[in-house]
Amino acid sequence: MTDAARNGEPAPPLVEVKGLRRVFDLSKPLLNRLLEGGGRVSLTAVDGVDFSIRRGETFALVGESGSGKSTIAKMAVGLLRPSAGSVTIDGIDVAGKASADTQRRMRRRIQMIFQDPYASLNPRWRVHAIVEEPIKAFGMLPDAKERAARVGELLSLVGLDPRDGQKFPHEFSGGQRQRIAIARALASEPNFIVCDEPTSALDVSVQAQVLNLLRELQDRLGLTYLFISHNLAVVRHVATRVGVLYLGRLVEEAPARELFSDPKHPYTRMLLDAVPDIEMEGKERLTIAGEIPNPVNPPSGCHFNPRCPFVMPHCKTVVPPVLDRGNARVRCHLFAEG
Ligand code: SF4
Repeated sequence: MTDAARNGEPAPPLVEVKGLRRVFDLSKPLLNRLLEGGGRVSLTAVDGVDFSIRRGETFALVGESGSGKSTIAKMAVGLLRPSAGSVTIDGIDVAGKASADTQRRMRRRIQMIFQDPYASLNPRWRVHAIVEEPIKAFGMLPDAKERAARVGELLSLVGLDPRDGQKFPHEFSGGQRQRIAIARALASEPNFIVCDEPTSALDVSVQAQVLNLLRELQDRLGLTYLFISHNLAVVRHVATRVGVLYLGRLVEEAPARELFSDPKHPYTRMLLDAVPDIEMEGKERLTIAGEIPNPVNPPSGCHFNPRCPFVMPHCKTVVPPVLDRGNARVRCHLFAEG
């Protein structure tokens, strides 16, 4: 037991994201710029994002395509380096300069489940080799028989038959392939899993089964999830806390129940409005027209101002600060005005 737990304090977060920023350089090569004219072009995909995830929680990041959620997912697992800010897991910076041994131990504890189970499994490998690979890569079970037994255990854990290990990925349905991907992710005994749209490539009838499996595994193994999705109905099913992203900025963060029953930011209300099967407990639905702007040239001030029905003159020039409102955090001038 930690000192904090002994003193009755909540455990420190497992994952801390601070001032996270990622800029992509989209400029043409220097020679083309000299010959054709034109300057450098950059895209700020993630712009100063902060949040933390406690052990055993599911933190969901939602937003439209281009909001920066997948870029955050890649930085959280170390596939992409931040331009500024950090992601720390158990106090260790994912992109930092910890010793090779510490980095290796940390990598074992972080896994990712991708959107497309068809693309994420090697079609030429049998399933047992796919699931066994992380166990070998991290040198966890040197004995081949023990490894085979562990692969069988992992396949059972995700609801497959241990004999399925002899088959190839193409012999399975989409939902079963995602189960194989989950078994592979669990093979290195992670405590933090980034789920990047894990059910959006699956039939609706199969989605609930995979989401239920992820929840069962969380309860059983004490897993912590960062769950990336554009689908609020899915997020409502799995999340403990939710962060809403708009053009690279977190515009609202709140406990899931509160976000769905009392959305604060106009953009969150617009997202909820677009999901007909989500009850808003008698609240008037808000319809906002317009498309997400080009992230290369986002609107100044509050990025949401061209689509917002409550826009005020200073929304177009002043970036709204992040304000605490009870258990929620909101980035909107309306809340500064009370
Ligand atoms: Fe709307 Fe202004 Fe709030 Fe942005 S800051 S969401 S434009 S009211």
